[in-house]
Amino acid sequence: MNFATGLRCRECGTAYPDEARYVCNNCFGPLEVGYDLDAARGVVTRESIQEGPLSIWRYGALLPDPGLAPVDLGAGWTPLRRATRLAEVLGVRELWLKDDTRNPTGSFKDRVVSVALSSARRLGFTTAACASTGNLATSVAAHAAFIGWPSVTIIPADLEKSKIAMTAIFGGTVLGVEGNYDDVNRLCVELVDEHPDWAFANINLRPFYSEGSKTLAFEISEQLGWRTPDQVVVPVASGSQLTKVAKGFKEFIELGLVDGSAPVLFGAQATGCSPIATAFSTGADFITPQRPNTIARSLAIGNPADAPYVLDELRANGGDCGSVPDDEILECIELLAKTEGVFAETAGGVTIASLRQMINRGTIDRDKSIVAIISGHGLKTLDAIVDTATVSSTISPSLEAAEEALRFHQLVAAS
Ligand SMILES: *Cc1c(COP(=O)(O)O)cnc(C)c1O
Ligand SMILES: [Zn+2]
Repeated sequence: MNFATGLRCRECGTAYPDEARYVCNNCFGPLEVGYDLDAARGVVTRESIQEGPLSIWRYGALLPDPGLAPVDLGAGWTPLRRATRLAEVLGVRELWLKDDTRNPTGSFKDRVVSVALSSARRLGFTTAACASTGNLATSVAAHAAFIGWPSVTIIPADLEKSKIAMTAIFGGTVLGVEGNYDDVNRLCVELVDEHPDWAFANINLRPFYSEGSKTLAFEISEQLGWRTPDQVVVPVASGSQLTKVAKGFKEFIELGLVDGSAPVLFGAQATGCSPIATAFSTGADFITPQRPNTIARSLAIGNPADAPYVLDELRANGGDCGSVPDDEILECIELLAKTEGVFAETAGGVTIASLRQMINRGTIDRDKSIVAIISGHGLKTLDAIVDTATVSSTISPSLEAAEEALRFHQLVAAS
């Protein structure tokens, strides 16, 4: 059961067949996958979804056709947990965390890669590739290893060591480029022309790739008991995730699968790479590209491809976009860990710090429900915290030394 049709241009609506193509010949607009929602209505039901696997593929009918079988390493169906202690600190009534640290390679990118490589395999590709800020490369390398494909992942050479190691371990070819992500992306667009037989997850396969992010909206709705939340905070790099989270809620509403209306969407960016937050706050329709300088490397895209669509979604019904400095990102990684037991990478710190900022300026309503997407695991960016998150004291192996340290840390009363 699958209701995807071919591709169509987001700008002019021109239809294209189901193939690895990503720009419109007529207007250079981006292409996206279409669905026959009229045919799906009444056929894709809460029950039919609940009979599916505990992964993104329970929503397979509303994703690009995976062919004979999806490339399924287990992405998705991550916990949605009520965050009561953090809610109390932030002064809000109902806060939920969508804990996407719990994916096979520790980030939300497993959702989009599982969809992209399923489509790539169906379309006859045999090599996986991508331009990445880190997490995408890890996920592509892992999923390629899982199906026995070679992979070519291309990243800025100065990425976090932990992210490079987590990619290289899967055995593909990892090219470190002396430059930032925007340089990497430019290079990869040239490589796609030279190697049309390579499936670049986020370039020639982008229409399929991006659909994977809809599953965040599907899962959030289902996990809330088939209702939509009032407000959702989404970290923004290229803007693909935010745009497709919006699309996911709209499709579920259109199919009558959820109660409630489309949530207000809020973006989250690091000040060191905040072209969308800047355009939003100045009322501009287009972004001015920025040279990234932030510890939130996974979000460091200075010229985001989907920026105009993100701005549309943020403005559709009263959203906003946070812009937070690196010290607040670190502070909020710690705040989330201390209050909720969830260890996030720098992108998660951006989400929580942006959430706090937008609550404080009143654009996020404290009395309405909020979901914050925590998109990557803290082990991915250990470099950011190893110097501050250390042992409380170093002691000699004696009872006396231990008791003295415990008094110092006020765990026992001073005598
Ligand atoms: C890639 C990524 C995002 C969002 O990316 P988009 O390009 O906006 O879809 C968010 N968080 C993490 C951890 C990521 O790796
Ligand atoms: Zn077009």
